Amino acid sequence: MKEKLDSNDLYLVNFARDLLLKSPDRNKFNVAAAVRSADGEMFGAYNSFKGYWSGSVCAEVGCLAVATSSVAPKRFEAVLFAAVKFDADQESLRVANTCGRCLQWIVDYFPDADCIIAEKDGSLAVASARDLLPYGYNDSRGIIE
Ligand SMILES: [Zn+2]
Repeated sequence: MKEKLDSNDLYLVNFARDLLLKSPDRNKFNVAAAVRSADGEMFGAYNSFKGYWSGSVCAEVGCLAVATSSVAPKRFEAVLFAAVKFDADQESLRVANTCGRCLQWIVDYFPDADCIIAEKDGSLAVASARDLLPYGYNDSRGIIE
């Protein structure tokens, strides 16, 4: 189920945008993600782009590491992730949808988390990470007898 963003959600997007605008190198750190804890505290991180996808660390995973090592995990009972990316021209910004690998991390750590997504028409919405990854890895189903 998707919902429209409220002003606090937009504030989180802007938090990620402001972090990205401070990127020390737009070719290596071209995505910033932000997460908001249950009590409203926000944490952010950059991606670490190595030129090939599997060796890179997405901003959402970096953000998750920063946030969970900074505060008690129980403060993340309700979390919201947002990611902002420079467009290829490096002059414009857009919300980047979270990749499948990061969705799996998010669902594993925070099953009730939400993510801010960009719809096909460019509008923004809030969606459950579980809804975005309906068939994510789960080793407790599909038992073969
Ligand atoms: Zn990712």
